[in-house]
Amino acid sequence: MSDNWKRYIGAENSHLVDFGLPDCDAFIHQSIKNDLTRLVEAAAEADLPMTIVSSFRSFDQQLKIWNEKWQGHRAILSRHGRRLNVDQLSNIEKYKAISLWSALPGLSRHHWGTDLDIFSKQAITDGHRVELTPEEFSNNGVCYHLNNWLNDNLQKFGFFRPYRIYQQGVSCEPWHISHISTAGKMLNDFPYEQCQSWLAKSHILDKTFILDHFEHYKEKYFLNICDSE
Ligand SMILES: [Zn+2]
Repeated sequence: MSDNWKRYIGAENSHLVDFGLPDCDAFIHQSIKNDLTRLVEAAAEADLPMTIVSSFRSFDQQLKIWNEKWQGHRAILSRHGRRLNVDQLSNIEKYKAISLWSALPGLSRHHWGTDLDIFSKQAITDGHRVELTPEEFSNNGVCYHLNNWLNDNLQKFGFFRPYRIYQQGVSCEPWHISHISTAGKMLNDFPYEQCQSWLAKSHILDKTFILDHFEHYKEKYFLNICDSE
């Protein structure tokens, strides 16, 4: 096997390209560029311009986020957005709370360049500070109309929302979109063994605990996604 497996876990990014649309900075998998361009242009034509607030994330970036949450240096939130006190949580409670909103390094779909977090461009222009909360995408939220448009149109452009509804794994994340065919292929070919060894060599905190829960994470969070309908 070549080093190709590294691109599944955010350890390599030579398959990625700059999206290149004005005001829509993103580093993406080259196979999604055409569909994403069509999607962004169609949203703009519907008077609901969207922008990308997060695209590719490397293993090291994800590791930093995870470890900061693990240490309590970055907020850990409950499913309803309440801030939790890390000192009062056991390892298993901490692991579950972090996994609601942040992926285990190596098992983030943001490593692939096929998955993006999107937001209303208008809301940002109007001074809204992006939080990525379910409220922003529900009734009266700044992304409410964009969300409705996505419900009706996302599929037509070859995208879906893997965290559309909460299924006891990752929280409901209506802002997270994924390219159906490219991400589907990445998931099918995913190199679990290499991912596990990469984690074992990393500086993840409480490594033994984390490695003991790798299978659990894979089943409960990584593979537990909504279907593309
Ligand atoms: Zn996301």
